[in-house]
This record gives sequence, structure tokens and C-alpha cells, in this order.
Amino acid sequence: MPHEIPESHPRRISLLTRDKLIAGFNNKLIATAGLIAHGRGEAFDYLIGEVTTKPAKRSIDAAAALLLSTENAVISVNGNVAALTPEDVVVLARLTAAALEINLFYRSLPRELAIQKVLKAAGAGQVMGVGKAAGALIPHLESERGKVDPRGIKKADVVLVALEDGDRTEHLINMGKKVIAIDLNPFSRTAQYAQISIVDNVVRVMPALIERVRSYLAKKFTQQDLEKIVKAYNNKTILGNSISLINRRLTELAQKGVFL
Ligand code: ATP
Repeated sequence: MPHEIPESHPRRISLLTRDKLIAGFNNKLIATAGLIAHGRGEAFDYLIGEVTTKPAKRSIDAAAALLLSTENAVISVNGNVAALTPEDVVVLARLTAAALEINLFYRSLPRELAIQKVLKAAGAGQVMGVGKAAGALIPHLESERGKVDPRGIKKADVVLVALEDGDRTEHLINMGKKVIAIDLNPFSRTAQYAQISIVDNVVRVMPALIERVRSYLAKKFTQQDLEKIVKAYNNKTILGNSISLINRRLTELAQKGVFL
């Protein structure tokens, strides 16, 4: 049972997010390593100020355009994503006509089924990558880490991943996929490899992506409009801007010394 967190608590959102992860761990959605991965993310969230930064907004604009302009897009769902933001993932998939695929670093059928259940309860239609359905392999990765669904990630043009391992990201890129990564750490191998790296917390990114997709749809952007947005995007510049932002914040805080 999660403990009461007072409305006035300065770290309320962060603590509520932790509670969701702990519940996800207890419900067998998340592996122990998923909790550790979240901790690493929290540290970087502190550094960016726990807000969606300007560079992250630019990445979200480009990611929304890429998802809408791609025929074969897949949203890859792991335990942390399922525990933190299942409803938004389902809405995003529906709006962009992307497939949902369960894709785990530590695969186990009970975990796949638990995640599938959460996604279905959130309104998902088809959920790929469960059990024997994950019958294809990402080349050069040993079997468990490399398992993907032949109807999903295996044939996708674009894969959206969150909290992904850098090695697997590299292999997806080697397969010719375009990877959109949600990763709070701009230094991670995943963020460095992906074509679009959204350096922000997945709990803020999902609603922001949905809003951006809806705005493109409302404005009736054409395929050409969307492709233009993607083409104008430069991940190297955006990652550089994200790192500069952290650098600036730290310099300012260092000058102040005490800032509470
Ligand atoms: P890589 O292998 O890509 O170099 P890593 O070893 O840190 O990175 P993992 O531990 O597999 O990779 O993945 C966790 C990544 O997800 C970390 O970079 C962490 O900063 C990020 N992360 C953790 N929680 C969140 C979150 N809530 N939103 C976005 N990113 C997160």
C-alpha cells in the first residue's frame, strides 16, 4: 500500500512516480534492474531541473512528425513504461497508428503477460512481442535480449524506445531502423546512437508527444510538412544543447553555493 504523500511535499511528483514503480515491481511488471535504471534517470532529472527543456521540446516536435509520417512504427514497451504511463502509450499508439510491442531486456513470460494485461486494461488493441510471438531475433544479440516480434520491431522502420539499453539500440540502428529514444541521460549510449533523443522523463514526454501529434493532426499537416520537420532536426545539436543546459545550470548553482 503506497504511503500518503502530502500535497505540499516539494518532491511529491517524484515520490508518486516511485510509488508507481514500486507497485509495478510488486506486480511483476518490473525487474529489479528496472528500479536501478529509474534511479539513474532521477539523478539526470535533477540536473535538467525536472522540466521539459527547450531541446527536449524540439526532439518531441521531430519525434511526433516522424511517428506520424512513418507507415511501420512500433512503440516498444518495457516494465517501467508500463508501470509509469500505460494509458498515454496506448493513446499515442492509436493516434499515430503505431504498433505496441513488449520488448524486454530481462524476458520472462509472466512479466510479458503482466505488461500485456496492464496495456489491455489501458485500452490497447493488439499487443505484440508476447511469448512465442517474439519469434524473430535482432542479429548478433544473444537470444533473450534479441527477441522481437516479426510483425513488429523486426519489420518496423521506426522504433520508439524508452529506458533502452545502448547495446540493443546500436543493433536496432544497424538493422536500418530509425530510433526515437526517451532517455534522461544525454550521455547514455542509447541517447548518443538514436536519431532522435528526447532527453526528458518518460512521464512528461508521453503527454507532450500526444499533444504535439494532436496539434499536427488538427493543423492537417501533410506528409511533406512532417518530413520537412524531421529533416530540419539535428540530434547532435540537440544533444549538445541538452548538455550545455546542464552545464549552465550547474555553473549558476555553483556560483550561488546555497540555493534552497
Ligand atoms: P546505455 O546502455 O544506453 O549507455 P544505461 O546503461 O544507463 O545506458 P539502462 O540502465 O539500460 O541504460 O537504461 C536506463 C536509462 O534510462 C538511463 O540512461 C536512465 O537515465 C534512463 N531513465 C531512467 N528513468 C527514466 C525515466 N523515467 N524517463 C526517461 N529516462 C529514464
